[in-house]
Amino acid sequence: MKGNIYMIAGPSGVGKGTVVKQLMKLDEKLALSVSATTRAPREGEIDGVNYYFLTREKFETMVAERGFLEHAEYVGNCYGTPKQPVIDQTEKGFDVILEIEVQGCAQIMEMLPEAKGIFLLPPSYNELEKRLRGRGTETEEKISKRLETARTEIAQAYRFDHFVINDDVDAAAARILDIIREYRD
Ligand code: 5GP
Repeated sequence: MKGNIYMIAGPSGVGKGTVVKQLMKLDEKLALSVSATTRAPREGEIDGVNYYFLTREKFETMVAERGFLEHAEYVGNCYGTPKQPVIDQTEKGFDVILEIEVQGCAQIMEMLPEAKGIFLLPPSYNELEKRLRGRGTETEEKISKRLETARTEIAQAYRFDHFVINDDVDAAAARILDIIREYRD
């Protein structure tokens, strides 16, 4: 049985990374796609684990070679989902999780209508701002840009199949798993 593809999107700062990390612990038939990016690694991030950190030149070569399932520019950096691992994992029967932003989701929705979109929402906009500042990893300029982008991202939520509010990491991860398991039955 072939696995499915689940896109998990939501505004920057909503806690996608944390929720997805928790989700991966809950089910052994889930595989997380490792994206490529031209962004510099944050402290503690490991190449090949959190992302494949590429130069813009290498990234563009992969785009030209059609190596990405989708790719997009986000706040000045490029991000993309390497195609082959997703094909391999779904063929092995894993449900593949893509933690990506909305432009990439739109490309996948067009290309693979069977892929499901799950949109993670913050309990409120104020809470989102608080979390983004609390992370302390970005400059004020980047935070403002991410907040501005967040508004346009949330406006795209209507395109998604499911909405999950991240009021609590464990509860949000469990709700996502419930959604995925519904499709398996
Ligand atoms: P960050 O720089 O905070 O790690 O990620 C910025 C945004 O890029 C997040 O919304 C994240 O989900 C998204 N992102 C990560 N990998 C990919 C990818 O492969 N494709 C697309 N389209 N977005 C991605």
